[in-house]
Amino acid sequence: MQRIVVVSPERIPLSPCRPARARWLLTQQKAAVLRRYPFTIILRQPPSGMATPLLRVKLDPGSKTTGLAVVNETTGEVVWAAEVTHRGQQVTEALAARRATRRGRRQRHTRYRPPRFDNRTRPKGWLPPSLASRVQNVVTWVERLRRVAPIAALSFELVRFDTQLIENPETTGIEYQQGTLAGWEAREYLLLKWGYRCAYCHQEATRWEVDHIVPRSRGGSNRISNLALACHACNQDKGDRTAAEYCHPAVQAQARQPLRDAAAVNSTRWALYERLQQTGLPVETGTGGRTKWNRTRRGLPKTHWLDAACVGVSTPARLQVRGIIPLAITAMGRHSRQMCRPNAFGFPDKAPKATSVVGGFRTGDLVRAVVPATSAKAGVYVGRLAVRATGFCNLKTAPGTIQGIHIRYCQPLQRGDGYAYRKGAALPPQI
Ligand SMILES: [Zn+2]
Repeated sequence: MQRIVVVSPERIPLSPCRPARARWLLTQQKAAVLRRYPFTIILRQPPSGMATPLLRVKLDPGSKTTGLAVVNETTGEVVWAAEVTHRGQQVTEALAARRATRRGRRQRHTRYRPPRFDNRTRPKGWLPPSLASRVQNVVTWVERLRRVAPIAALSFELVRFDTQLIENPETTGIEYQQGTLAGWEAREYLLLKWGYRCAYCHQEATRWEVDHIVPRSRGGSNRISNLALACHACNQDKGDRTAAEYCHPAVQAQARQPLRDAAAVNSTRWALYERLQQTGLPVETGTGGRTKWNRTRRGLPKTHWLDAACVGVSTPARLQVRGIIPLAITAMGRHSRQMCRPNAFGFPDKAPKATSVVGGFRTGDLVRAVVPATSAKAGVYVGRLAVRATGFCNLKTAPGTIQGIHIRYCQPLQRGDGYAYRKGAALPPQI
């Protein structure tokens, strides 16, 4: 069941409570709402010696979306879940637009500006801004959760597959020797290596088969260098021929080339790993193969937050996920630093950037607007504010955006924190 995070009057994280208890505390005036997202209540009186469980934050970092789950390891209960949508692509696009504008300006008849391309240095561990923003999003949310919940450990999917486990299954635990988990690591490896495409017809399929390039019946081994990804049709069609006999000698050559080092496949995850270690919490790392195996064995569907809950060896045997509605968090950035917006040709022809503070509000603030009946926009609205210098602002509410709400009707609910929030998709009832 979804839980509500609670902090003491001194803002020390306490045991998250059930929604019914939170409602009772709020109606009895024993607690107040501290934040809307994540919904946090603060007690008015110090609690009397409640045992605080230790929770684990589990992360499944992705390029577009990162899954987050807070799990109580003793009960196997998922306490809270969220999915963070990153803005990596937007960062890339904004930088590309800026670069194009500068390039264009250099061609025009302006004063001479010497080119400045070789006077920049990058600090050690530098990441491109689009990747850095993803890392920062995740670290931000780990820190925010630590402020409101008793977090004792972190789990994190560091790599998609473990190369060592694929090549030397004998060196590891019984699960690998029996082949079950090793198969999942290998499958993950093959998916990446063959780019989610059939090695023979190059089509994307929904169900994959692992094809032996030199068939088992012809003495081919189970080594990863003898495996390729194939769709069902090609696998059947190929039968007991080798890839060369099947007129695909290139597949045989490609299979012998190992995929580049697992670390290089995902540099951001290693950067994130270093940042997570700096929190001082014990960080458990897992592989994508293990995550998938954990999730499938527990009969859970594929979502980002369930993947996160299934990361690592520490995953409880029974995960209680019923009733969890993940919070959909979208990274929005915090206003633009551009002072003058150019047109499509790079000429500054729009009005200079107006103030970012209007009537004490900023874009991104969550507000409640009570518009009186005398106004055409009469009604009560709750949403995310986009300020306009005239005072007539836009309000993004759950049903849609409403324009022309004056700032004087707005009351702050939560100040902008760089993210927008929605209710995520609930699980189907049979799970
Ligand atoms: Zn195929």
